[in-house]
Amino acid sequence: MTNAIGFLFVYNQNYLIILNKKMLKSNIKYPVAFDSVQEKLIEISKVNIENKENLICKDCNESFVAVLNHQTPHFKHKPKSNCTANFESYVHWVTKELFKEIKSINVPELLIDDLFEKQREKFQLLYNKIIDSNIPEELRFEFKNELKRNLTDAQVLQIDKIETEKEYKTDLGNVLIDIVTLSHNEKVFIEPFFSNPINQEKKNKLSEIDTSTLMLNLFDFIEYFGSNFELETLKKYLISDEGKNWVYIKKEDFDIFLNNYENYLSEEIKRFNPVIVLYENKKEEILKINNKLSKLFNKKDIIEKKISILQNKVYDLGKEI
Ligand SMILES: [Zn+2]
Repeated sequence: MTNAIGFLFVYNQNYLIILNKKMLKSNIKYPVAFDSVQEKLIEISKVNIENKENLICKDCNESFVAVLNHQTPHFKHKPKSNCTANFESYVHWVTKELFKEIKSINVPELLIDDLFEKQREKFQLLYNKIIDSNIPEELRFEFKNELKRNLTDAQVLQIDKIETEKEYKTDLGNVLIDIVTLSHNEKVFIEPFFSNPINQEKKNKLSEIDTSTLMLNLFDFIEYFGSNFELETLKKYLISDEGKNWVYIKKEDFDIFLNNYENYLSEEIKRFNPVIVLYENKKEEILKINNKLSKLFNKKDIIEKKISILQNKVYDLGKEI
């Protein structure tokens, strides 16, 4: 896994709660606004006479006030604002807007552990079947330990087109997708989350739509860089494979990946074959020696019995003298 920004995130449930309470309160100091004329994001440091009247909050579409004479210059709502936004919804819309400027992202490897439940079961069945029928039971642990835990490698996803907040109908109910990317006419969904990762219900709906989906952890980003982040830093994070993992893989791709893994397993079994042969040979040798030993022990018992009979005879004869 590439570590594009050069740090690792640690997920901490307790800290999440503390941070959420802090960030969900009103009076949020926003580092970024939306320029409704230029239709792009603007950092507080880029405010000037030309754009300052056009800067809005995308949650409520009201104007932002730029607070420049402050230790931490920032945007804020006007005092009588009706905006119901919190920091979570703010980071969401900034991310959605920023994605419109991004032409490609690094996507992470597909881990077996991340597979959608039903796909995971299908994988496990095949995995066990192949290993059980090819590897002796005593060697399975060692063999499995060496196997890779991913179905695909990390790669680059080109983004030709992007749509945000698209609603899809499924038999399980409607579902709103935050970011829909199009790459060579192929869709990939991206779902940013802050405090609520995608749950099983949503995963089931994604499986109905059958579109590969990445989950994007924005909480880790804010935890690390703070709420007064720079746009360029967030952009780098969105492009990197940090904080992303697959939550659903479309059926057609999954079948290909499964097939690839099956081929990989056959290769690994071939590579492991000398160990199996060695083990089988040793096993045979050990069996032979054990057989000999048990025969010798039998003989030993008979000889010891004969010895003790003769010894008793000598003893009895001695008493008669
Ligand atoms: Zn607002």
